[in-house]
Amino acid sequence: MKWTNDRSGNVDDRRGAGGGGGMLVGGGLGTLIIAAIIFFLGGDPSAILSSGMSNSGAQTEQRNLTPNEIKVREFVQMITAENEQTWAKIFRENGMQYRPAKVVMFEAVTQSGCGTAQAAMGPFYCPADQTVYMDMSFFKELEQRFGAKVTEFSIAYVMAHEMGHHVQTLLGTTQKVDQLRRSGKYSEKEMNRVSVATELQADFYAGLWAKQTDNREKFLEPGDIESAISAAEAVGDDNIQKRSQGYVNQEGFTHGSSAQRKEWFMKGYNTGDIRQGDTFNALLK
Ligand SMILES: [Zn+2]
Repeated sequence: MKWTNDRSGNVDDRRGAGGGGGMLVGGGLGTLIIAAIIFFLGGDPSAILSSGMSNSGAQTEQRNLTPNEIKVREFVQMITAENEQTWAKIFRENGMQYRPAKVVMFEAVTQSGCGTAQAAMGPFYCPADQTVYMDMSFFKELEQRFGAKVTEFSIAYVMAHEMGHHVQTLLGTTQKVDQLRRSGKYSEKEMNRVSVATELQADFYAGLWAKQTDNREKFLEPGDIESAISAAEAVGDDNIQKRSQGYVNQEGFTHGSSAQRKEWFMKGYNTGDIRQGDTFNALLK
């Protein structure tokens, strides 16, 4: 992908600040599964974020960021700016006003409006403070453990997916899903299907964002869409289950299969039309 000239002021880079450090103890399979779950978590992640994952208490040293880390911050500022511009336009065209999300870049551990965010959880969106939390070390994991080739555009896709959850919060979808969950009227199996619809809609929004941003900025290059699809497929539930438990159990899906994730991202990209993204009607009938 080509870099654009836009940079957002809504990015808070907490890397290198020192102090609140602490690496997750253990790691291994559990961490991998939790990372995958949180990576594409819809709704309110506080339950998982504060579910007693232990912290070694090791402090991170305050340090200067490397030139490469500073470049990564600039990249995140750019993708944030392009999300702000594209979504402001889509909202305006539909008679609504867009409010930008905040973005926090962190390493090791940081506080979020949804509880303590630990490294190895991967990027997530917290509706309570309308902030996208970007654990940049996750992309190494995506490559090494999930077998996805990480490109600049696959990072942009992941950010756009999280921004898609912000759109769901602005449109009231997150709140409706929370109401369903809290009502206690639905079985775990039924709520898993709601969760899949929520995640696939965020993928649809990511595809829509890619298309509409490309219309304005002409930033896509050959191979970019394929790299986003490869990242989406790598974190499909079936792929994660196969890698972690060796078999696929569809009822346990909470994020959608690899094929579904690809399908809805491409539907957003090919239609460029927000009205085509009703995954709830499409999947829950
Ligand atoms: Zn998600």
